[in-house]
Amino acid sequence: AAMISFNDVSKCYPGGFEALKGVTLSIDQGELILFAGHSGAGKSTLLKLIAAIERPTSGSIIVGQQNIGTLRRSAIPYLRRNIGMIFQEQKILYDRNVFANVMLPLQVTGFDTRTSASRVRAALDKVGLLDKERADPITLSGGEKQRLCIARAVVHRPSLLIADEPTANLDSNYARDIMAVFESFNQVGVTVLISTHDRMLLDSTRHRIIELKQGKLVA
Ligand code: ADP
Ligand code: ADP
Repeated sequence: AAMISFNDVSKCYPGGFEALKGVTLSIDQGELILFAGHSGAGKSTLLKLIAAIERPTSGSIIVGQQNIGTLRRSAIPYLRRNIGMIFQEQKILYDRNVFANVMLPLQVTGFDTRTSASRVRAALDKVGLLDKERADPITLSGGEKQRLCIARAVVHRPSLLIADEPTANLDSNYARDIMAVFESFNQVGVTVLISTHDRMLLDSTRHRIIELKQGKLVA
């Protein structure tokens, strides 16, 4: 069944730039999809629409049972509870250790300390960072920082994971590791959407690739 569907979606930013033009697509639960295209093609706009960070100018977007275009502002936190997001502008906090960074999303959920701690460790374990829980994030490599961001995005066990250029600035070995982490979540049923212009990743994947060009779906 479709988990996400776009029907003739366009997004025009204030100022008039049309970042997406008439996009229609359907994503099934449990898929792993790579969104490809040059810088400016509209990849990150598309991901932001799914998380209701941006709203469509026209067309409809259904995520789960909800219509993103008409979703009330007050309903957005409930939508996001089911989404893990990895966006470049999400900053690691350098005044606390790795464990505390991953704990952050749970602080608003009201879990008791023990439950939260076991969830944080489960998430760190899944990304291979359990031995670094006490580390100062400044000491992490680029790939480890990205894995920290992934742990933080999955700690509330979302069924949908959205990552915007997660391998940008990483060399190809690290990029492969990061892809393997996403694949491991996908294997337990998490739907994973990744934007990338990393040719190596795109050429080596066995997953569906959706290509955007100047705001339009081309393949
Ligand atoms: P990609 O992720 O493929 O690089 P984006 O979705 O980030 O593409 O951007 C698509 C186009 O929309 C770009 O030309 C960008 O400058 C423009 N854009 C993105 N965000 C905004 C914004 N908040 N306001 C105005 N224009 C934007
Ligand atoms: P616990 O022992 O706390 O139940 P699990 O062994 O079930 O932990 O692993 C849970 C971890 O799996 C989560 O902390 C999270 O990192 C990851 N995860 C994220 N989304 C899902 C999902 N939809 N289904 C299963 N595991 C998920």
